[in-house]
Amino acid sequence: AAKGAGRRTSRLYDEALHELSEQKRVLEADLVRAVERKEFVLHYQPKVCTDTRAILGYEALIRWNRPGVGLVMPGEFIEFAERSLIIQDIGRWCIYEACREAAQWESGLSVSVNLSARQFMDPNLNSTIRDALRRSGLEPERLELEITETALIQNIMVASRILEKIKKLGVKVALDDFGTGYSSLSFIQKFQFDSIKIDRSFISTMGTDRKSQAIVDAILNLGSSLEIPVVAEGVETEDQARELLLRKCREFQGFLISKPKPIETGAFSPRVAVDKAS
Ligand code: C2E
Ligand code: MG
Ligand code: MG
Ligand code: MG
Repeated sequence: AAKGAGRRTSRLYDEALHELSEQKRVLEADLVRAVERKEFVLHYQPKVCTDTRAILGYEALIRWNRPGVGLVMPGEFIEFAERSLIIQDIGRWCIYEACREAAQWESGLSVSVNLSARQFMDPNLNSTIRDALRRSGLEPERLELEITETALIQNIMVASRILEKIKKLGVKVALDDFGTGYSSLSFIQKFQFDSIKIDRSFISTMGTDRKSQAIVDAILNLGSSLEIPVVAEGVETEDQARELLLRKCREFQGFLISKPKPIETGAFSPRVAVDKAS
């Protein structure tokens, strides 16, 4: 009987595995189609000055308008897309689309685009960026690329050469999710980032966890000594914003100001001109 049960379990296991790989095949096929049919949209979240709350720029965040499903968040498909080559197509679309849209904003503010690790190693990355800038007419200094430590870890020397080339185009580079990956300080030493973004996980626990607070302080001190602006991610409460102001963190993003939104909606839409002095 034990043997029979074992066989049954293993059959169930095989079926589960089969179903999983079937789901993956469907997802992969749907993503390929999504690229062809342009089912993606970019939502934008403002980055503000901690002191005045003036908008300093917008981060572009991808969403997938999946037929029959609705709006799918990047957490549900980016990692998957990264494991295949689809990420190259999706990533390229993001760069072109963000540049195209930003070039039309009345505000003239900058746009930040997230790059995946794979995209970062794409030998065509530089020419893609150059072409997107040329076609859209967006000034290079208005484009910022966000990369994570994970994208850099594989080969610091190669990575810093790629970054160097990107910076030669006049584009800005931010280190995203700082503190969560390998947080090798040699990234910061070997490469001149235009900004460092403190990961949301530290901001959300800053008020209750002394360790998070110490880490936030350490990153802010590092930024200030190296003269690299530090941006706090995921600020949700006035308390957090006040703490950041006290600690001289000059810029932040978060639901407190606005969730990422489609280009057309609301007061924080990049479409709308902002009063930079306010
Ligand atoms: P990220 O670049 O660190 O983006 C910040 C994420 O935090 C976004 O999630 C944003 O909606 C969310 N967020 C911002 N403020 C708050 C807040 O106050 N509270 C909370 N709880 N969340 C906040 P989203 O849009 O789901 O994106 C998740 C991740 O997916 C991004 O993290 C980025 O790594 C990746 N991603 C998004 N768009 C792209 C893209 O176009 N290309 C690539 N390669 N990755 C992307
Ligand atoms: Mg980001
Ligand atoms: Mg981030
Ligand atoms: Mg993140």
